[in-house]
Amino acid sequence: MSVAKEFELANDKYSAGFTKGDLPLPPGRKVAVVVCMDARIDPARALGLEEGDAHVIRNAGGRAADALRSVIISQQLLGTRELVVIHHTDCGMLTFRDEDLRKKLQETTHVTADHFAFLPFADIEQSVREDVAFFKHSPYVLDVPTTGYVYDVKTGAIRKVEDN
Ligand SMILES: [Zn+2]
Repeated sequence: MSVAKEFELANDKYSAGFTKGDLPLPPGRKVAVVVCMDARIDPARALGLEEGDAHVIRNAGGRAADALRSVIISQQLLGTRELVVIHHTDCGMLTFRDEDLRKKLQETTHVTADHFAFLPFADIEQSVREDVAFFKHSPYVLDVPTTGYVYDVKTGAIRKVEDN
């Protein structure tokens, strides 16, 4: 069975007991969370989020530059007024450099990707600080409370590293 088929079965159960059909479009807690796509992180459970609470913007590494388009939409059209950035221990972004992935991409697709920045990093706390600073200094992003955390995949705990 494909995973998509498994999703359909799981969703039958989820939707059968669904009671959140009347939520407003803007996030109730007026927050956007930018977090790595890592499969070990469940932002809803780790942060106490329910349907309708928050925008959770996920990408490889939880990088701010990659999330910018969504953050602008979140703030300008859907009223969020706080930002949270979460990177994590043992992140895949610590394991490669741009040139490594460009080479691999060229080998497998025969496409040159020299212009592509995959935004890997070498230090988790530093990457969180960089991304909080990115939002703070971006002319496209409102000046809102912005907090950065490192999530520990071994313990499930978040640790604050930047509060701005
Ligand atoms: Zn990651």
